[in-house]
Amino acid sequence: MQHALIASPFMDGHLLLRPGQHNGLRLGAARFKELADAHPNTPVPQWATDAVRQTWGLDLADRRIGQSILVRKASPYGYVRASYEINLGCNYDCEFCYLGEKRFEGMSWEQQKQLLGIVADAGVVYLQITGGEALIDRRFPQVYAYAYDLGMMMQVSTNGSRLHSEMIQDLFRGRPPYRLTISVYGATEATYDAITRRRGSFKRFIRGLDAAREAGLPMRMNVVVAKENQHEVAEMEALAEKYGPHNVYGNMSPTIGGDGSVLATQSIRYEKARRVFKGCNAGHTFFHADPFGQASICKIGRDPQIDLMTEGVEGLRRLGGIADSLMLRTGGCSGCALSGTCRTCRPLAKLYQEAKAPLVSYCQHEERNNA
Ligand code: SF4
Ligand code: SF4
Repeated sequence: MQHALIASPFMDGHLLLRPGQHNGLRLGAARFKELADAHPNTPVPQWATDAVRQTWGLDLADRRIGQSILVRKASPYGYVRASYEINLGCNYDCEFCYLGEKRFEGMSWEQQKQLLGIVADAGVVYLQITGGEALIDRRFPQVYAYAYDLGMMMQVSTNGSRLHSEMIQDLFRGRPPYRLTISVYGATEATYDAITRRRGSFKRFIRGLDAAREAGLPMRMNVVVAKENQHEVAEMEALAEKYGPHNVYGNMSPTIGGDGSVLATQSIRYEKARRVFKGCNAGHTFFHADPFGQASICKIGRDPQIDLMTEGVEGLRRLGGIADSLMLRTGGCSGCALSGTCRTCRPLAKLYQEAKAPLVSYCQHEERNNA
């Protein structure tokens, strides 16, 4: 039987979460302990049934803890979020993709289970599965279900083209994600199919979104703006709003392999000044795992990596130090007098510098006049 709730340590406190829902309840340490120490046959305590009914309209009266609540163990590693790039392969071929070469490569099922066990042992509560296009990976349903059953709240990033498939619909019906993050590349067939360089992709996209809406899946839309679709941003936003709240992304970055040619797709009109970089928790409370189980601080700062498959969860103890060293303004940024007001974190600046991108795309030493 699937768990209806997850009780888990989270940062300095504890949360009670409902898979498929984005909101959660804070639990005091004593209440978390009560759940963690209880025999599985113990009835769900009154305070929990009341709170759960009030928050999610779910009736747990007469239910046992063991039937309803998956209680996560405290982890000494301190991670709460992670992303797992199941595969770099994609059924689209967008020119601006930050992945560059999109190879269908990854690990065996045994290795994937090992990786997901490590992710759970690290303390991760919120796991994003991404790609490439995650939903075209033949092992996506197994991976997703396994991670869900370990007690992680699931988010999936997708282009939406497979959301109508029966297999995916069945999977999400039984084990709901708390969020689907969906990219929007155009509002018309002509623009969308031209961007993805796949005929028929717009039709599949809309079919997928309609199916997801019908199923009540929680969608968050990312409107991606490039030169080729900048003429229909208003229409893309209107389309996105039919399915869920949306953000507009207009900043292109070099590929993870250091290819800056994708920057040619940048829409100057929609390039947004980033906020001043004040630090982030990459490598400390979240990490990224690539298709081979190599962990890095995030999707951008991929070097150095830690091989989780050989080092196991203990390897993550080195990641905080790696994160701190990656944030130092070294290399092309060393000695910069403007670093205190820089809008580009050091790992991203390094990527731009390696790609020999023009300063105007990331650095205060040259800014666009119309910025
Ligand atoms: S790209 Fe920069 S800001 Fe974003 S997670 Fe990585 S280090 Fe942090
Ligand atoms: S302003 Fe430019 S040189 Fe200075 S830290 Fe930022 S990216 Fe590096």
